[in-house]
Amino acid sequence: MKVFKFGGASVKNAAAIQNVAKIISTHRSEPLLVVVSAIGKTTNALEEVALSGSDDSAVRTKIEEILFAHLAIVADLFPASHQLNKDIRKFKEVIATEIKANHSKDKRYDQVVSLGEVMSSLILAQYLQHTGLNVEWVDARKYICTDSTFREGKVDWALTRSRIVELKEQIKTRILITQGFIGSSPEGDTTTLGREGSDFSAAIFASCLGAESVTIWKDVPGVMSADPKRLPAATTFDELPFREAAEMTYYGASVIHPKTIKPLANLGIPLLVKNFDNILLPGTRIHECKVDRLPPLIVFKENQCLISCHVTDYTFIDESQIGVIFNELSSRNLKVNLIQNSAISFSFCLDFKEEKVMELISELGKHFEVYYNTGLTLITVKNYDSESFEKYRTQKGVILEQSSRSTLQVLVRS
Ligand code: ASP
Ligand code: MG
Repeated sequence: MKVFKFGGASVKNAAAIQNVAKIISTHRSEPLLVVVSAIGKTTNALEEVALSGSDDSAVRTKIEEILFAHLAIVADLFPASHQLNKDIRKFKEVIATEIKANHSKDKRYDQVVSLGEVMSSLILAQYLQHTGLNVEWVDARKYICTDSTFREGKVDWALTRSRIVELKEQIKTRILITQGFIGSSPEGDTTTLGREGSDFSAAIFASCLGAESVTIWKDVPGVMSADPKRLPAATTFDELPFREAAEMTYYGASVIHPKTIKPLANLGIPLLVKNFDNILLPGTRIHECKVDRLPPLIVFKENQCLISCHVTDYTFIDESQIGVIFNELSSRNLKVNLIQNSAISFSFCLDFKEEKVMELISELGKHFEVYYNTGLTLITVKNYDSESFEKYRTQKGVILEQSSRSTLQVLVRS
């Protein structure tokens, strides 16, 4: 059996959904589980609604807009009398109820933001049915079991596996359509796996079902040596070793979610990245392989913040002080992307999640003299050659540089 994952861009409107249906239809004769993300930019819009937490007219307008976008797609795909018209409208009430409920901020976020995937999967499943395919809509929340960490649910693998294997029978007779990104807590509340987490969902299903492969359908020809929007000369890889792909995602390549590789690599399940606009393109195969001489691979990670902690009394930075810094980071679930230390200062760079980072800075201020810069981009050049090494080191605005034998990283003012 195979697992397919379609992201938001692949279902952004009725024509896109019809295209997805065509791709699925060409695989109708083999067992298939399809994981789908929320339509287009729905998650961002629902995020605004959830974070505002209020029920004022601006928020109500936003909810109307979200539903209107879905209803417009339904209108393009189905006859006017179709049940989905009513089903989608009902989400207005559901969202309003969740906003008014006495949830913590993060719990409210997950209850609201998860609905994007619920709606997109309902529309896709109904459309496939409408075109004559034998499909079943599967509620991922019954299968992906997490802890109660809202917005960043940690998967309970044993429980999740025991649930997902139950799908092995169903999948023999019909195509299963489910949601990416969402799961549920032991208390039965909806949780999410972190932004862009649908790839990870696909990997979870594939690993628990022992799939023969996972295909992520994207708007790019495959995994590329750089973001083609930034570097038009970027080339597409035919194949990549798991390790190389995992490291790329670690440095910030957004083509695949960082958590996707591990469950697949552990079982040797190949991950294919294919183009949904041109299914004849070969795409990239990520699997156990050796590739001689990979070209330099360039990853841009934007919105970085550099924090420097200085000791003020001429003592040197030592382990216990570094311990203080890392305890504060880990208690906020913040990840460090680059570290540099000197005798009297310890500097690190991390994603600028404003609220959490400003809290961190103020806490560290109790122990150190703290300086910080925002609006930075971390550029990583993996497998650099002399040309790319010079180019990125000597560009304008570099404020920090670090290199190993294979990897160069520079932090630059954006
Ligand atoms: N819809 C979610 C997001 O945009 C999950 C995903 O797209 O993978 O973050
Ligand atoms: Mg998305």
